[in-house]
Amino acid sequence: MGHLISSTSMLQAARDQGFGITAFNVHTLEMLQAVVEAAEETHTPLILQTTVGTVKHLGPEYIVSAAQTAAKLSSIPIALHLDHCTDYDLIVKCIRAGYTSVMIDASMHPYEENISRTKEVVKVAAAAGVNIEAELGKVGGVEDDIVVEEEDARLAVPEECAAFVEATGVPTLAPAIGTAHGIYKGEPKIAFERLERIYAGVSVPLVLHGGSGIPEEQVKRCVKYGMAKMNVATELRIAFSDAIKAIFAGNPDENDPRKYMVPAKEAVKALAKSKMEMAGCIGKANAVR
Ligand SMILES: [Zn+2]
Repeated sequence: MGHLISSTSMLQAARDQGFGITAFNVHTLEMLQAVVEAAEETHTPLILQTTVGTVKHLGPEYIVSAAQTAAKLSSIPIALHLDHCTDYDLIVKCIRAGYTSVMIDASMHPYEENISRTKEVVKVAAAAGVNIEAELGKVGGVEDDIVVEEEDARLAVPEECAAFVEATGVPTLAPAIGTAHGIYKGEPKIAFERLERIYAGVSVPLVLHGGSGIPEEQVKRCVKYGMAKMNVATELRIAFSDAIKAIFAGNPDENDPRKYMVPAKEAVKALAKSKMEMAGCIGKANAVR
């Protein structure tokens, strides 16, 4: 019925109404279909996203056409986002292919350089009606080829967040607040007091990275303080892979991909619904239009 839309207004509506929208990293057609079905069945707005590694693995055109097909066949608002990209040329390539949201991750550079690199992307993406996400501070953990050791992770500075949004015009901001990519060893140590100050100084929707394994109560607190987008990557990959491993454990000779892809898809779908529930976006498809 529809087509892919920019996530800017979706996320602004979510922030204004006090809920979060889940953004799922997908790596295969089945993972994409699983989260789309989860969203369609529950009438939930959806952000599909891919890492740079997945863009290189599948090619942006295949990803865009699958996401466009999902948008066409379903009744919910769907955006397609490029996660953690450091490469301006690849961002432009993905926008041309049909991505409706991009992240420029220049968080490894000094503050002023992060501003100038983000501004370059805002210029090209905004003209194309595409959402832009930038990061301040540095989220720890491993995301594709980006490895940030625990001692190198940095929290975002509230005053810098406000000045950064002002200087760049970026419509969504990912401030590092103590969450990490991958699986947490203990409970994540989220800097809520800092998040509250960021929320007070910035009117654009905020993005929660490292959304795998954050306890429900902490997710809800993040959403309350402006985290309108919650990224889920690692847990989804694990659910998908574990379901396949279980099939092969029971039947090592299985050689029909549909026999192991169907349970993997079901596992992803169930997990996606539970994350949507946590973020509070179930049934909100019409609330973001
Ligand atoms: Zn991230």
